[in-house]
Amino acid sequence: MSSKAPQAYEVKELGGTPEQEAYMRDIIDQFTVDTKYLNQIRDHFIVEMQKGLEKEGATVAMIPSFVEGRLTGQEKGHFLALDLGGTNLRVVLVTLEGAGKFKTVSSKSRVSEELKTGPMRNLCDYIAECVDTFLTEQGLEDQEMELNLGYTFSFPVLQSSINRGTLSTWTKGFACTGAVGKDPVLLLQDALLRKHVPVKVSAIVNDTVGTLLSNAYNKPETLAGLILGTGANGAYIEKIDKIKKWKGGKSTSDEMIINMELGAFDNERNILPLTRFDNKLDRESINPHAQLYEKMISGMYLGEITRNVLTDMIDRELLLKREIHTSFAWSKDISRHWSFETAFMSNIEADNSDELSVSKEILDTNLNLHDITTTEARIIKKICELVGKRAARLAACSISAIIKHCEVGPEGCDIGIDGSLYEFYPSFEARMYEALKEMHPEINDIEKTIRLGLARDGSGVGAALTACVAARMEQTA
Ligand code: ADP
Ligand code: MG
Repeated sequence: MSSKAPQAYEVKELGGTPEQEAYMRDIIDQFTVDTKYLNQIRDHFIVEMQKGLEKEGATVAMIPSFVEGRLTGQEKGHFLALDLGGTNLRVVLVTLEGAGKFKTVSSKSRVSEELKTGPMRNLCDYIAECVDTFLTEQGLEDQEMELNLGYTFSFPVLQSSINRGTLSTWTKGFACTGAVGKDPVLLLQDALLRKHVPVKVSAIVNDTVGTLLSNAYNKPETLAGLILGTGANGAYIEKIDKIKKWKGGKSTSDEMIINMELGAFDNERNILPLTRFDNKLDRESINPHAQLYEKMISGMYLGEITRNVLTDMIDRELLLKREIHTSFAWSKDISRHWSFETAFMSNIEADNSDELSVSKEILDTNLNLHDITTTEARIIKKICELVGKRAARLAACSISAIIKHCEVGPEGCDIGIDGSLYEFYPSFEARMYEALKEMHPEINDIEKTIRLGLARDGSGVGAALTACVAARMEQTA
């Protein structure tokens, strides 16, 4: 994760004009979230979590996952995971060895455009074929016992049990006929039966829930899972008697994982420190007024917020101002939506060289911004720092809310986090810890108590573990 802390500049050290300094002071003010404000956001977050637990249709949806109980780390056996919804279809065999140890083997295959838009039966037959081929390759085709499979089906599904639900609508370029309103598990199970593949689809898996479980297998004190990648989401373990809206009847445990859908937090705009740059991003997005929290903390959006600040400075002639008229042309790329990637921010923040030569290179190669001065590069780096730091601090509010809501004691807890933003953005984790420390003065050693850690592969290991929990629930029910 973060190696070296990015060097931060004070306004005076940027080397700008008085006008640039004044602008920067104002921006710093708008993007700074102090301790008191963090606490207010956290408190509001807890209120919103409670609303979601009480009734259907709340802003933070707090969806019961039907995944009951906790892992011990002693679970053993072969389990399958299937991941549909990204670029590739992935089949994973996970061998749980106990003591938190596991092995995985996987295969990937492309889903053609024809399959994505043709009859659902064809897609399911193709998936069953992929699973069958994979089992043969792994020498598992003659299994006496059916293998349990966790199905990460990354489309909107209204779930009614751990392995039952209906597809509400297709997204992401899929449009198979004969699937909306039907149960994707049953459709796949039928295809597996037609081919005599000895596999039982035992769970539909949400990737955030999968992230929690993949972390929990070798860290049994895991309380929550978080995604900080393209989007943002969270899941945590809740006492069933606190899920007031739950009408699922008898359960095999007194605890259940909640898929929070926390990206929608504060869509009402009651508390989040939205700036005009956030408002511009929201207005120009494909889902205005939705996912407002996600738009301040996840990978898809941070680069665009930064770009909005940069273009505002350009328009005010505070950045990239050149005497020669022709050079207007070189701000063409930066004028394009989404042209400033969040990964650029990572690289710019990681650049601690005196003249910020790496940053200049990035701006040159990717955005055709030639001859950036050192002062300009410092200003751009400062803006990245403000946007990146605010994201980490706001993301920490959700963790603090979970900890407080669940009344975590001095023994602390583990929190598994997946996503490129958390994994690659320099100091993202350190900044989260800093904010957590401010919100929890009662905790002496924050890093040893609220133990954040990278939890990769929620749709592989996590999905297999969900299938394992499903099998256990079936036995105990
Ligand atoms: P997904 O969320 O789709 O599973 P990832 O976890 O890899 O995938 O997240 C992808 C997002 O992370 C992209 O929106 C991208 O902006 C961001 N990202 C990719 N690389 C980096 C990086 N080096 N630093 C910061 N953000 C990154
Ligand atoms: Mg992911």
